Amino acid sequence: MAVYAYRCADHGVHEVSRPIGTAAEREPCPDCAAPTSRVFTAPRLSSGSASARALVDRTARSASEPAVVSAPPPSRRPVPRATDPRLAKLPRP
Ligand SMILES: [Zn+2]
Repeated sequence: MAVYAYRCADHGVHEVSRPIGTAAEREPCPDCAAPTSRVFTAPRLSSGSASARALVDRTARSASEPAVVSAPPPSRRPVPRATDPRLAKLPRP
C-alpha cells in the first residue's frame, strides 16, 4: 500500500491509502466531499518503523486537531497492600 496526498481548498491536505500505482487523479475530501487534487510529496522511505511513524503522525496531528474524548481515561488499578502484619511495624518516613 502507498499513501497518496490530496489537497482540499477548504480543509487542507488529507491522505488516502491505495495499492501502488492506483492513485486516482482526484479524490473526494473526507470533510466536504469536494473533489481534491493530488499533491506530490517526498516518499516516506526512511521514516523508521510503522509504529514509530504512527506515533510521530499522531503527535503532529494532536497539535492541530486533538482527539475528542467522551470520558476521562479509566483509573489505574489500586496498588495491592501488603498483608504481612510485620510490615505495619516498620518505621514510616
Ligand atoms: Zn474539504
